[in-house]
Order: sequence, then C-alpha cells, then structure tokens
Amino acid sequence: MVSCDAYENGVSESFNLVIEAARKKPLIIMLEEIQIYVVYIQGQGQSWDLNIRPSIRLKLNKLNEQQRFWQVVTSGYMQFEVRVGNDGYDVDLHTRQCGCRAWHLAGYPCVHGYATISSLNRDPEDYVSEWFTTSMYASCFM
Ligand SMILES: [Zn+2]
Repeated sequence: MVSCDAYENGVSESFNLVIEAARKKPLIIMLEEIQIYVVYIQGQGQSWDLNIRPSIRLKLNKLNEQQRFWQVVTSGYMQFEVRVGNDGYDVDLHTRQCGCRAWHLAGYPCVHGYATISSLNRDPEDYVSEWFTTSMYASCFM
C-alpha cells in the first residue's frame, strides 16, 4: 500500500500565498480580508465575457495572425496536413493533436491546429482544453 503524508496542489499554495499578509492579522480582520479576496476573484471570473481565460484568448489572437501562412489539405476524416514550404504537420481534429505536439502539451491549438480549425470556419475556442475555461477557473476559488 502506498501512502503519502503530504498532499499538495497548486490551488492551496496559490491561495495561501495571496492570504499571507492577512494571516498575520487578528481573526476577524483576517476573515474579512479573505472574504474580500474571494468576492473579488468571483467577480473577476464573472466579468469575463469569454468561455476561456483572457490569457488564452490573447494567444489565440496571435495564432490568428500567424495561421494565414499555412495551407490546409484534407488527408482523411478529421485529419489534415498543414504545410508551408517544405514544413508540414499532420493535424487530427478528432483527437485534438498535431504532429508538432504543441497542442497536446499546451492545451490549446498550435498554429497548425488553428489554421485547420479556421479553414473549416469553426471557432478555435471550442478546441481549447476545459482547464482554461472560465468555469474551471471559478471552481478553483469557490
Ligand atoms: Zn502543430
């Protein structure tokens, strides 16, 4: 049987870092400051008019500028070859993966995936990992 005394995740460490100053104050003031922080975070998430985090939206906007140089050719059902000059990658929209592996690693389409999605007149935001959605962000702080 495997056991571990320490359980760590990024959420608790981030929260503890933010409330570090409040933790040194008297109990009531500490709780009020934590409440203000939580309300602020909830409001921040709700104010997004996006389904995905703004930082990911910015990255997709940059990809939108870069994707126009790539030529997309269908090679099978939901499979495409994306080329520019002698450089080419296989993109599978069904599995959301590209031969460059950047899409799989980052959780949002690479420039080749973006070019493929755009060529089909689909929304690239629909192909972003659920980890970058506003609802997932809000669930970390509620
Ligand atoms: Zn790629």
